[in-house]
Amino acid sequence: MPRWETYHLATTVEDALNFLAVYQGEATVIAGGTDLMIDLETGEVPLPRGVVDITRVKELQVLRREGKYVVVGAGVTHSRIVTSSLLQVEAPCLVEACGVIGGPQVRNMGTLGGNVAHALPAADGTVALVALEAEAQVARRTAEGQVVRTWHPITSLFLGPGRSAVDSTRELIVAFRFPARRPREGSAFDRIMRPQGVALPILGVAARVQLTPDGQHFQRACLCIGPAGPVPFRARQAEAVLVGQPVGEETLAQAVTAALEEARLRTSRHRATREYRQEMLRVLLRRVIPKAVERARTWKGVDTP
Ligand SMILES: Cc1cc2nc3c(=O)[nH]c(=O)nc-3n(C[C@H](O)[C@H](O)[C@H](O)COP(=O)(O)OP(=O)(O)OC[C@H]3O[C@@H](n4cnc5c(N)ncnc54)[C@H](O)[C@@H]3O)c2cc1C
Repeated sequence: MPRWETYHLATTVEDALNFLAVYQGEATVIAGGTDLMIDLETGEVPLPRGVVDITRVKELQVLRREGKYVVVGAGVTHSRIVTSSLLQVEAPCLVEACGVIGGPQVRNMGTLGGNVAHALPAADGTVALVALEAEAQVARRTAEGQVVRTWHPITSLFLGPGRSAVDSTRELIVAFRFPARRPREGSAFDRIMRPQGVALPILGVAARVQLTPDGQHFQRACLCIGPAGPVPFRARQAEAVLVGQPVGEETLAQAVTAALEEARLRTSRHRATREYRQEMLRVLLRRVIPKAVERARTWKGVDTP
């Protein structure tokens, strides 16, 4: 079992960043530890001298509507997301994605921030956040010692499998925000998993769609597929096929064709062949897009297009 010099329980963002600054790259952040502890044991991540536990930082536990955004703190666990009545209305795709992560123990400990910082292209919560066009707030300490916080599109955080643009030895993801549910909008997530699997899926898909006021055409669409490349994959060609087109079988078939053309599906030793993933991409898009449409049609707000 790994042994570090210091285990620090931070109480604020500033406190956590100060601790990291003292260790100058030789300390790291731990949230639920469900990824980090395994990475330390397997030697994937070098043993740090210091570890800063961020589970007691109140600011990271926020889960609320703020103006036109829904804000979810990076320290919010998957279990809290699943039981959030706000997210069940605003972002069912995130609830569905976090609801299938690991088992109850993993969901009770694992956080949305850890899921994103770990930077795997098939991470379920991450795939949903990309479809929600989320942004992440990253806090860091400047050379002058000031703490600055900046919002970044979530897609800019991923550099490759397991490679994050957020340096967890110096920076902290504080929160995510995404636009609150718009009129006639719905979202959905589904994945294909090996029956005995507990970790990452064979394939996951999240969709967020908005319909025109008559409910007959796609006005806006955002699709994320994972894994379909080195980073969570936004299927922009398939999105473009949907927008402006009538809701129905013909449009869906065209979107599936576009997604199959643009997604970089590959064979992986432990999960599935490329061909199987292609079949499953068809299946998932045909489940997820109609479910998002159905939810868009049950939207109950006042329609002001
Ligand atoms: C048995 C098992 C099953 C799993 N199943 C799934 C699954 O089905 N789907 C799935 O997507 N994942 C799965 N996971 C992976 C994992 O549970 C999730 O990715 C989880 O969300 C990670 O969060 P955490 O809080 O435990 O992260 P940690 O392990 O604490 O941290 C992970 C990494 O992120 C960094 N980090 C954490 N929080 C922050 C922050 N706020 N700012 C900056 N850096 C940060 C850490 O330094 C570390 O490098 C599984 C894991 C296990 C052990």
